[in-house]
Amino acid sequence: MNHDVTQKPDGSTDPDAKPDDGSDKGDRKERVLHTRVPAVLEAELKTVARALRVPVSNLVRTILEDAVAIADRASSQVEQRLEAAARSVETERARLRARLERNEVLQDVLAYQAVIVAAPNRCARCEAPLEPGDDAALAIRDRPGPSSFVCTACVPKPKSAKP
Ligand SMILES: [Zn+2]
Repeated sequence: MNHDVTQKPDGSTDPDAKPDDGSDKGDRKERVLHTRVPAVLEAELKTVARALRVPVSNLVRTILEDAVAIADRASSQVEQRLEAAARSVETERARLRARLERNEVLQDVLAYQAVIVAAPNRCARCEAPLEPGDDAALAIRDRPGPSSFVCTACVPKPKSAKP
């Protein structure tokens, strides 16, 4: 199977080159791909990998596979595929970062105390508005800092659910 990308002398990709259309899906031979990434992206990938408890290389491969699969569906044109892949990685990064940030907000919480909201606030996890009179839970930490509250949907359910 020829995986070489045909290049014109000016460096542009030959439009007649047959794009890798996935006809070699059965070819599981693995290759090592080296790439440079900004330090901030590397740090993010490592954080995400730690949070998901997977090796960084697995995470990167999963993101790339997802991106290419999405790009495959979007178009068979090489350029459009690459653009779509890049956009997908960008979106995925934003999505993962948002999810991690939400998790991190409540990472060091020791307990939740049921409360009645007195002043308008927002759920620290899903950002749902908390209005005075609403049931909510106060997140208790062992260090000083601003109080955070979670809505009833986001508070962990008690082990012994009431009848
Ligand atoms: Zn919530």
